Amino acid sequence: MPSTDHFKRLLVTSALPYANGAIHIGHIAGAYLPADIYCRYNRMKGRDVLYICGSDEHGVAIMIKARQEGTTPQAIVDEIHPLIKSTFKDFGMSFDYYGRTSSDTHAQTTTEFFRALNAKDTFVTKTDEQLYDPEAGIFLADRFVVGTCPNCGHENAYGDQCENCGTSLSPLELIEPRSTLTDATPELKETTHWYLPLGDFQERLETWIASHDDWKHNVLGQVKSWLADGLRDRAITRDVPWGIPIPEKEARQAGINPDGKVFYVWFDAPIGYISATREWAESVGQPSKWKTYWQQDDTKLVHFIGKDNIVFHCLMFPAMLMAHGDYVLPEDVPANEFLNLEGQKLSTSRGWAIWLHEYLEDFPADLLRYTLASTFPEAKDSDFSWKDFQARVNNELADVLGNFVNRTMTFAHRFFDGVVPPLSNPGGMDLDVIAQLKEFPTTIGASYEQYKFREGVFHTINLARIGNRYFNDTEPWKSAKSDMEKCANTIHVSLQICAALATLMEPVMPFSAARLRTMLNLDSEYRSQDTASTQSIWDHAGSCYLESGHTLNPAEILFTKIEDEAVQRQIDILAQRSSDAEPVTGDKSFADGKDEIVYDDFTRLDLRVGTILSAVKVEGADRLMQLEVDLGFETRQIVSGIAEHFAQEELTGQQVVVVVNLAPRKIRGLVSAGMVLTAENRDGSLRLVSSTGENGAVVS
Ligand SMILES: [Zn+2]
Repeated sequence: MPSTDHFKRLLVTSALPYANGAIHIGHIAGAYLPADIYCRYNRMKGRDVLYICGSDEHGVAIMIKARQEGTTPQAIVDEIHPLIKSTFKDFGMSFDYYGRTSSDTHAQTTTEFFRALNAKDTFVTKTDEQLYDPEAGIFLADRFVVGTCPNCGHENAYGDQCENCGTSLSPLELIEPRSTLTDATPELKETTHWYLPLGDFQERLETWIASHDDWKHNVLGQVKSWLADGLRDRAITRDVPWGIPIPEKEARQAGINPDGKVFYVWFDAPIGYISATREWAESVGQPSKWKTYWQQDDTKLVHFIGKDNIVFHCLMFPAMLMAHGDYVLPEDVPANEFLNLEGQKLSTSRGWAIWLHEYLEDFPADLLRYTLASTFPEAKDSDFSWKDFQARVNNELADVLGNFVNRTMTFAHRFFDGVVPPLSNPGGMDLDVIAQLKEFPTTIGASYEQYKFREGVFHTINLARIGNRYFNDTEPWKSAKSDMEKCANTIHVSLQICAALATLMEPVMPFSAARLRTMLNLDSEYRSQDTASTQSIWDHAGSCYLESGHTLNPAEILFTKIEDEAVQRQIDILAQRSSDAEPVTGDKSFADGKDEIVYDDFTRLDLRVGTILSAVKVEGADRLMQLEVDLGFETRQIVSGIAEHFAQEELTGQQVVVVVNLAPRKIRGLVSAGMVLTAENRDGSLRLVSSTGENGAVVS
């Protein structure tokens, strides 16, 4: 298990969100919520944690958006940055500092970082020809030039990609290019740039990556494939008017004309973590404190990102840090895969997304935090659906966790005047639950240490399940009438579980945890008393620390169930917004998943490969086709409802997969002995499930 013990402090970052649009749930499930859970947990473990993020405000996409809206890039980021920042706050993101890359500190930090590398002759210069707009007087980066796609002939392909056929392009590949700024025909003009020769770092990166073979498989897979391809030089500067200007003196010395040149956004964005840390240090009145986190070896640096950012955080930024020499390297980069929405890929251009600031107008933050954390795409892509959201809130948060807290609090007020009753002569069930409770901080913590957040959340809700079961089994509604000491024991122990949950649920549901602490009348001093010298608040959570006689506050409902209409409204909004955008292929969604089966259920099916020998339409039945299928060991007649989808002649000779042990039945007077498997697309069209196996081969 990766340990944090030999590190003195944690420096945690979340990928800088790009300030050209609002935050959606895909972002949250990737780089933000996992990091927030991790930081909150580690703070409660008593560790020194600094959590840094900020808006990435440079790059061509922001320039394009500014042009589309008839404004300046600065105006765009001045509008988007505060929106992102306040949305994060409302969602409970516990950044220690949230910066922005248009700040002066960032420009200064980037320039200093560049100079340190330049002084060591890290960079090389290269001159090549690029498209230049003679009317606007600037070089045309990817999206500032359109032309005809050399691949498909689409007339409005961009300089970096054809949106019609998806081919990646460079501006020079476009046929009849024209400037999107002035419509002028661009000319070729020489330009010189600095490049980071990543190949020089290949060996050091390989050695370093090899020492981190405990990283997530999806991360190592991508990194190793890049390394296997060999790392190439990468330009760190470019000819666009929005970004951090390159330093003039060094440029002239290198034979580069600095006019209109800025640092490439991939180079300045990760330095944003460092500049935001400097701003944090200033804000706490210890201006050099940032160096403690970035430049002392006993810091554990962890980057939380989505999978589209792996190469930048595992190879390029580390190469920059290696080249500098004063900085720590990331200790882990637990990137997540992608989150899908209602079975489809998220797409902001198609309106297929849930915007976080809109969600927060309708529901509390914790409900989404819980649902996402339960389904994080930790090892592979996962799916968010509104029905699943409703089911988790109603069946887990309301019925399990909320119900347990509510019945415990209700009994404490009704029978014990709102104070914690004593534990006297505890029985076997009481002692058993107390013993189980002690294990939970370690169990949940072990999951979080390994970035297994889904597992940690599962254990957390499981503690509430154990509480509910204990409450049911000890039947305090009966003992309240006959055996008050037994009833007191049940409520005493149940309150201890509530107090544990008030701590252990905090990383995932900080707002609800705070409300539970208010009900239980717990402040942080109380949560850690008696153990000030040895135990953290987290480890203390399982120790039954509520004292008999402690006064409780009034109970309130922790989680309200979500009605069908509320969820349907969200589904309708999503459908409406995506139909307003460009059409989606397929006009309905796939069928819902079926209930889980065990392996034995599957093995009861006898699936075989067969070849259709003949296909004849059944007279008087539009849908039915009479098939003769060669199964190797015998030939079968099968009547199949596929006649509207396939012509007779296209079926003959096709290899298919057949369920051969389906009981024969008569259809329109014809015996059908088996079933041919098909796949149904969203538009209702059918495809045969084919195989290249021999006739009679078992499919399993
Ligand atoms: Zn194309």
